[in-house]
Amino acid sequence: MDGFRWDYADKTETPNFDRLVKEGVHAASIVPSYPSKTFPNHYSMATGLYPDNHGIVQNNFYDPELKRAFTIGNRDAVGDSVFWGGEPIWETAEKQGVKTASYFWVGTESNADYSPSMRKMYEHDFPFSNRIDSVISWLYLPKKERPHLTLFYFHEPDGVGHRFGPDSPEIIQMVSELDQYLGDFLNKLDKAEKDLGIEINFILTSDHGMGAIPAENNIILSEIIDPTRMKRVHGGNPVYLISPDDDYEQEFYSLLNANPHLSVWKKSDLPEHYRYGTNPRIEEFIVEANSGWGLSFSGRKKGYSAGTHGYDPQNTDMHGIFYAIGPAFKTGYSHESFENVNLYSLIAEILGLDAAPTDGAFENIRYMLTEKE
Ligand code: AMP
Ligand code: ZN
Ligand code: ZN
Repeated sequence: MDGFRWDYADKTETPNFDRLVKEGVHAASIVPSYPSKTFPNHYSMATGLYPDNHGIVQNNFYDPELKRAFTIGNRDAVGDSVFWGGEPIWETAEKQGVKTASYFWVGTESNADYSPSMRKMYEHDFPFSNRIDSVISWLYLPKKERPHLTLFYFHEPDGVGHRFGPDSPEIIQMVSELDQYLGDFLNKLDKAEKDLGIEINFILTSDHGMGAIPAENNIILSEIIDPTRMKRVHGGNPVYLISPDDDYEQEFYSLLNANPHLSVWKKSDLPEHYRYGTNPRIEEFIVEANSGWGLSFSGRKKGYSAGTHGYDPQNTDMHGIFYAIGPAFKTGYSHESFENVNLYSLIAEILGLDAAPTDGAFENIRYMLTEKE
């Protein structure tokens, strides 16, 4: 569930989230990778690599070797394997003869050698209830075709979080709706287990959280620096990747560094825990607004956002959710916060796969699993 902040389920009655807590594992939060944006993080969950290492360094970026831009709305780019590094979990599984399926998971639309045996190409407006029914119907396929790993995506509550902010009544309403979809899905999984005599492990997680932005807290970069002296500008609210003209670098840095509401770094000088800055797709400078501040390059083209994400993973507003139930997971177990690069190892272990090297480690999450005899 995109943009489901770690604390959203506490905002209202959520009997189905409560069931997951009672019968399974609940982590205090899941920590996103930097930048806490959708594409980099879905692909970190899938590969166990930080964005610096898997190459999807933002929702949009420029590759200087390929001389091509990547944006999430460009189907040619999203579908081209040259952009997608590392080994996603569906590749690991399919290589080892384990069938996988994806309903809208970021990265599965690529024309790589190994892709999920079943996949749906992204269609934003497809109703959630239809998505649930398709995913359930895949379980009822003949044994030989049935997926053993299904990745499944909802674009809410991210959309409502951006429009109305994380503290709005609209978020409470959406959380309540999502709890109902969750309940429906869990009931259908229970039924499939009985009908088919199978056991299902279910993980519910999110790519990042959401930070509130008061309407007056908006920084417009082109009012601070000279927008005509830019080589390249990528990224978006609240994190931009910018290469200014060579002879403008110093002035660019000084002007932005003087602003109390944002941070600017050379890509080689980022804080250690960002684990970011070596990939050639990252521009020379990273410009990030402070928590509680919005950032745009040339004004609010899309109008005012009451919430956004992309900030420092240590900012707890950026933390997401992790719940899991099923035979592999302990019952009523609380786990500490952990980084999303550990998810790959978790899934590989449950499916009994030989895992590729990652930036995470099975050791970090092993205690949530039941002991094997
Ligand atoms: P953002 O909040 O900017 O990090 O991105 C969230 C948006 O990504 C969602 O509203 C979705 O519409 C979009 N999105 C998610 N998955 C895909 C996909 N596979 N292809 C294109 N867009 C997607
Ligand atoms: Zn997202
Ligand atoms: Zn978002």
